[in-house]
Amino acid sequence: MILLDGKATAQKKQIELKKTVDQLFLKTGIRPKLAVVLCGDYPPSQIYVRNKIKACQEVGIISDFIKLPSDITQSNLILEIEKLNQDPLIHGILVQMPLPKGLDSNLAIEAISEYKDVDGFSYSSLGRLMAKNSIVKSCTPLGIMRLLEEYKINVSGLNAAVVGRSTIVGLPMQMMLTHADATVTLCHSKTKNLSVILQQSDLVVVAMHQCRFLGQQDFKKGAIVIDVGIHPPGPQNAKISGDVRFEELENWAYAATPVPGGVGPMTIYALLENTVTLFKYQNKIDELV
Ligand code: NDP
Repeated sequence: MILLDGKATAQKKQIELKKTVDQLFLKTGIRPKLAVVLCGDYPPSQIYVRNKIKACQEVGIISDFIKLPSDITQSNLILEIEKLNQDPLIHGILVQMPLPKGLDSNLAIEAISEYKDVDGFSYSSLGRLMAKNSIVKSCTPLGIMRLLEEYKINVSGLNAAVVGRSTIVGLPMQMMLTHADATVTLCHSKTKNLSVILQQSDLVVVAMHQCRFLGQQDFKKGAIVIDVGIHPPGPQNAKISGDVRFEELENWAYAATPVPGGVGPMTIYALLENTVTLFKYQNKIDELV
């Protein structure tokens, strides 16, 4: 089985991206800048934000960390986002989810300018994706597409299944695979005979948030299995796990992502790539310099 190593791939691609960022700086005198907005003190969000800021530093992207109190009002949060929209030296804006209780995440996402929506979560970004006219694409599915490209896995003509239909993972994943000429079945909690569908699929992307739910018997022999799920250690799992029982895939799958070290690092890489894409879009730079 081929291990689809997201950690190594992200590191390699970040080195390439750093070269691009440095060339952009030489050409324009400015560096891409990402605003990272965190409301409150939710510990996992603090870790995610720290990792994203560290990754920015590694490739020469400037990050602006905006820490807001957990009791900030919706309108004040939107005012903060609007200030960032107006700042010409901010190229991407990320509002870390989940927001504290009482704040509406959709309103926050929709307040971000469509030209600075680095996560690709807004209605405009999702609509553009559907119409094949994206500025940026949602980070997790984009990271998965980049990982498949790195391993020269061509999805054209494959029967693919995506398990999960969230607007941040499952739906945009379905769209990107469709645009890449796969034939895609989108599965969710009301899907009947999930295993039957998966057993007919050459490629399966699992984003169902069900710890270690799927195993060897659910997949066709020789399938490519991408596990998006992340579960901290708990009663069912001694260590960080995904939605798939990865250890069962050896001698069964053609290729698979581990958890951790698979989709997670590629999602962070895609965030950096999107920041650079927005920088180029705002500065009207079409080609890679
Ligand atoms: P959501 O909880 O928003 O969506 C889960 C989806 O799975 C829903 O569409 C749900 O169906 C479906 N589902 C749940 N149970 C079943 C079942 N038994 N059979 C089939 N489908 C089922 O999750 P997200 O999309 O936000 O995230 C999915 C996972 O990916 C999570 O574990 C999350 O932590 C992880 N994640 C990892 C990232 C990374 O960088 N590695 C980034 C983003 C997320 P229905 O719509 O019918 O309820």
